[in-house]
Amino acid sequence: MSLIKGLTISQARKGLLEKKFSAKELVESFVIEIKNSKKLNSYISFNFDSAIEKAKESDEKIAKGNARPLEGIPIAIKDLFCTKGIRTTAASNMLNNFIPPYESTVTQKLLNSGSIFLGKTNLDEFAMGSSNETSFFGPSINPWKPSNEKLDYVPGGSSGGSAVAVSANLCLGAVGTDTGGSIRQPASFCGIVGLKPTYGRCSRWGIVAFASSLDQAGPMTRNVEDAALLLYNMVGYDPKDSTSVNKEVPNFKDSIRRNIKNLKFGIPREYNLDESSPDVKNLWEKGINWIKQGGGEIVDISLPHTKYALPSYYIIAPAEASSNLSRYDGVRYGHRVEGGSLEELYQNTRGDGFGNEVKRRILIGTYVLSAGYYDAYYIKAQKIRSLIYNDFENVFKDVDVIFTPTTPNSAFPINAKIDDPISMYMNDLLTVPANMAGLPAISIPSGKDNKGLPLGFQFIGKPFDESGLLNIASYFEEVCEFEDDKEEWWKQ
Ligand code: GLN
Repeated sequence: MSLIKGLTISQARKGLLEKKFSAKELVESFVIEIKNSKKLNSYISFNFDSAIEKAKESDEKIAKGNARPLEGIPIAIKDLFCTKGIRTTAASNMLNNFIPPYESTVTQKLLNSGSIFLGKTNLDEFAMGSSNETSFFGPSINPWKPSNEKLDYVPGGSSGGSAVAVSANLCLGAVGTDTGGSIRQPASFCGIVGLKPTYGRCSRWGIVAFASSLDQAGPMTRNVEDAALLLYNMVGYDPKDSTSVNKEVPNFKDSIRRNIKNLKFGIPREYNLDESSPDVKNLWEKGINWIKQGGGEIVDISLPHTKYALPSYYIIAPAEASSNLSRYDGVRYGHRVEGGSLEELYQNTRGDGFGNEVKRRILIGTYVLSAGYYDAYYIKAQKIRSLIYNDFENVFKDVDVIFTPTTPNSAFPINAKIDDPISMYMNDLLTVPANMAGLPAISIPSGKDNKGLPLGFQFIGKPFDESGLLNIASYFEEVCEFEDDKEEWWKQ
């Protein structure tokens, strides 16, 4: 354990290149930790044998001086990315036995960089949820909880398993996807860094689709520098994804200067919510002071359509989901339950294969796309989406970045919100607008609430300014001095 506790990707790389430990030793240490931490349910599938084989290959490459950028770095992959030969479930009964015959572009790039996959991490079913509780494989559990607390806490979602794996030292870094906040919200709940890149930065090819106009892959790591390293090895133009953008990729790591001098920070009035906890608001105030201390400038801004972002998200995302998920019909691949007729086969398969939240989204989506309601709901939501984008575009004429809390609250106990979808959806109030506008945004651990649970700061950037975000986040990482003091109560 001492080898890997709190270890970062950059430290591990140094240790590997200086031969302080081998990639095989590193992978084996993680395998032991993962086996001792089954209670957290952060992985759905393990890839241990292949990981150890790959580690041996990495050790040979390192010995010959041929190390690639992430050579021998053990990471975890959200079980929404198709991985060749490794079961990919989207945490759904529908894909319980699906072994993809191909590799997603993002995971292929990560393999090409020399990183090693320890396994596939838990998530909300088809990435729909904010607590990881909609997973067919049961919820992943947050390693953070108030002291002396008997209840287990949610890690957030949908990329909850990835956040838990990073937070509990069960990998060096992980990848997630973010459609409405699924990287940033769990990162905030678990006290780690999560970055959603600009829409189009990462290829979506080979990622199980939820809402195609919103989905983006991104890194989840222990610190900001690692986020830069991982991101660099995930992004890039991909002709197989027509929405992938052909833009030069800067070396994100070089932008980390921990310096915010003369940068203009927009503080959106509309993000000061009644729903936000006092601890969240106080910490935000503290953050504003840190901006001033660092020589940054505060600009009071307005994003007037913010209040419509969540309602319109919950029209657009289900609409796209209902269309994307129509492919799971029991005929071509995935779960199948026979029936007396074709229609009955569809009904049985989809009735049994999908969980309640996914069914709810399909029903909402089909409704808002139906002939009578298309204009009233779907088209209206699309118009609102343009207004939200325009709000950001206007504001970015005057500021470099927008500063907000990541979530209105900290993590909550399992089962606390599962029967109340609206209160569950509220988790995404502050993260959804960046998805609606396709903007990059990062969450970093910024402090704790009165129960000792992590809270996050969110920075939303201009299109393709991930470098700027990483620099700003690196300054706050230093001043926030977030302390990981959680007890390892989950160890078996
Ligand atoms: N919680 C949001 C939802 O359920 C966002 C999910 C995501 O980003 N994948 O739609």
